[in-house]
Amino acid sequence: MNSSSFYIDGQWQEPATSERQAVFNPSTEEQFTETAWASADEVDQAVMAARRAFPSWSTTDPSERVAALERLIAVFEARADEMAVTISEEMGAPLDLSRRAQAPVGLGHLKTFAKELAAMEFTRELNGPEHLVALEAAGVAALITPWNWPMNQICLKVGAAMAAGCTMVLKPSEIAPVSAALFAEFCDEADIPAGVFNLIQGDGAGTGTSLTSHPEVDLISFTGSTRAGMAISKAAADTVKRVSLELGGKSPNVIFADSGIEASVPAGVGMCFNNTGQSCISPTRMLVEDDAYDEAVELAAAAANATEVNVASEEGRHLGPLVSEAQFNKVQHLIQVGIDEGARLVAGGVGRPEGLDKGWFVRPTVFADVTPDMTIWHEEIFGPVLAISKFASDEQAAEMANDTPYGLAAYIQGHDRERVQRLARQIRAGVVQINGSGRAPNAPFGGYKQSGNGREGGRYGIEDFLEVKSLSGWPIE
Ligand code: NAD
Repeated sequence: MNSSSFYIDGQWQEPATSERQAVFNPSTEEQFTETAWASADEVDQAVMAARRAFPSWSTTDPSERVAALERLIAVFEARADEMAVTISEEMGAPLDLSRRAQAPVGLGHLKTFAKELAAMEFTRELNGPEHLVALEAAGVAALITPWNWPMNQICLKVGAAMAAGCTMVLKPSEIAPVSAALFAEFCDEADIPAGVFNLIQGDGAGTGTSLTSHPEVDLISFTGSTRAGMAISKAAADTVKRVSLELGGKSPNVIFADSGIEASVPAGVGMCFNNTGQSCISPTRMLVEDDAYDEAVELAAAAANATEVNVASEEGRHLGPLVSEAQFNKVQHLIQVGIDEGARLVAGGVGRPEGLDKGWFVRPTVFADVTPDMTIWHEEIFGPVLAISKFASDEQAAEMANDTPYGLAAYIQGHDRERVQRLARQIRAGVVQINGSGRAPNAPFGGYKQSGNGREGGRYGIEDFLEVKSLSGWPIE
């Protein structure tokens, strides 16, 4: 395995080009490996391998696919630490976070798919035996993933596609090709039949477009920015592919005064900063009930000032660097925009944290008095930058929470059942988490509005890769 090779039809294949792209360690800014970008011809080879494997894989008994997933789970479990270390080096998540979350979360999704698949019925009667509804694999799937939770997204897509009986071509982020190559090695070791899972490396505009416009791709499952999601939908339109999108977010965290703000505010800051703020579901807008506002701002600033930042290879619960120089520059710019537009900076700011002169590190930052006309209220920053505002009524809380083109996640902290549950229903988002409750392992995950249209995880995730067939006149005399 190496991150310049492609895995096509059960074989590692060297790229035709001798051109290589550097892959950097975000903690050191130094190149640690390289990758190659697949040409249109190599994309075609991968898609056609998936096409050839489709007739047999899509008609396997579900128990065979459960067994394949279980083999993959066993390999992943045995090599989970290798995966965690790779992710840390590649995208900068501190080792503890990689071991505790980045690697295990992917493994957890595979386990959930195996369990759900074992219990799924793919055919059911409709009004009696005359009419059936059959769920069938949707075809050859193109899977395109980002770098921020690389195994989470790869396993959500590959596990669901495999469970459904689809064959697939994965194109991971060009910034995080190594963990994906390691995952392909796991598939190889798990004896996933040739052609069912294929991996190509490459960028979005070149390799990605060749994949999303390929006539033999039936559906696309994409996670990444809203900008790329729009481009992909357009590329897929000419051949009427199904497109499932998981996009960006600007999620609200509504804090009622009765929530116990000494705990709920620091917890909200911690969630916003998790993975150095590089999560689509980060609660980046904290909306605080006005009675509790001043104290909440102080608590948030203290939590940010107490947040340590260090290299990914160190043990501990600190934040790591941002993933890339481009991301570093973008976050620096948006912090400056926050200052220029008049938000009150109460922690952090532009520049690197003290003592970290190399690496794409940023200061954990909190802005108070952020108003809906400010850029940092609307724009996804993808760094450890929190925007705090206040609300005076439940109506205003709902209005402010929904004042975003996104609708991925929302968080509510409070103990007045009626107010909290009413707000949970009013917020236009695919995921609402109350009082620190985590999502169930098989919970559907996805967005409203410009956060996308797909659902991933558990049974809902498998259904995203299925077609629905209506069969009539089934019992033949
Ligand atoms: P990105 O959109 O730049 O890239 C994501 C992937 O899409 C990469 O593999 C990239 O090569 C590919 N790509 C880009 N343009 C393409 C095109 N025109 N055609 C085909 N492929 C293309 O996003 P990123 O910077 O890697 O990730 C960060 C974004 O992902 C954030 O906006 C974040 O909110 C979002 N995200 C969403 C979820 C979710 O589940 N909703 C989860 C994680 C990240």
